[in-house]
Amino acid sequence: MRIVVKVGTSTLAHPGGLLNIRHTEDLVKVWSDIQNAGHQLIVVSSAATGLGVGKLQIEKPSDITTKQAAAAVGQCELMYTYDRLFSAYDHTVAQILLTGVDVEHTERRVNIQNTLTRLLELGALPIINENDTVATDEITSIGDNDTLAAIVACCAQADLLVLLSDIDGLYTANPHTHPDAKLIPLVREITPAVMALADGAGSALGTGGMATKLRAARMVTGSGADMVIANGAHPELLYDIAAGKPAGTRFTGHKED
Ligand code: GLU
Repeated sequence: MRIVVKVGTSTLAHPGGLLNIRHTEDLVKVWSDIQNAGHQLIVVSSAATGLGVGKLQIEKPSDITTKQAAAAVGQCELMYTYDRLFSAYDHTVAQILLTGVDVEHTERRVNIQNTLTRLLELGALPIINENDTVATDEITSIGDNDTLAAIVACCAQADLLVLLSDIDGLYTANPHTHPDAKLIPLVREITPAVMALADGAGSALGTGGMATKLRAARMVTGSGADMVIANGAHPELLYDIAAGKPAGTRFTGHKED
């Protein structure tokens, strides 16, 4: 099975921007094992800006130039960390940085597709992020990695997209404000009522919220693949998710006519 997994800043970094070593090491171990079990994996990883903030020991920047600078520093840190951790399991990583312009341009999209396919054939694990240094405005940038992951899943003709978040899945109400909210295990159709369950809140260093995840689900399920939202603090859930067992919230894919 070809699986795209997206992991967010809130999973990979502590609120101040330093690496969450436990989460990151656990993730890399499970991802390596999933690959050893014969699945093809593509990772969409955030946290460039967050880790840059931690490494530079600055406050979360509000101006775009410092954000870009932080992302440039943090992207190095991110790939260095992945390279080091995956090497322990004999896996080879590859970095791909994309912008909105790249995925909309037909020829560039084909190039991305070809490179992804060849990397997977070569047994390498593509790790993708937005190229935050060049994509800054609403026209050139994709803006959030939930959307980027959905685009990658469609482009790579993945069977499954897993969005790892700091929440267990989609709830009947916002669980932070409604303690009696219930996790919804399965969504067969993303109706306006389902869309209304998102209230848009993201974490301190990341960008995505439930609304971007539901839009990603719409895109991915419409191309025929399943999408699952699960908690990145429990990476071993990926074993169940890959086996089609209940974990988090699963959105079932259906080809649109
Ligand atoms: N590309 C951004 C970063 O790596 C994250 C975007 C997102 O979290 O959705 O910092």
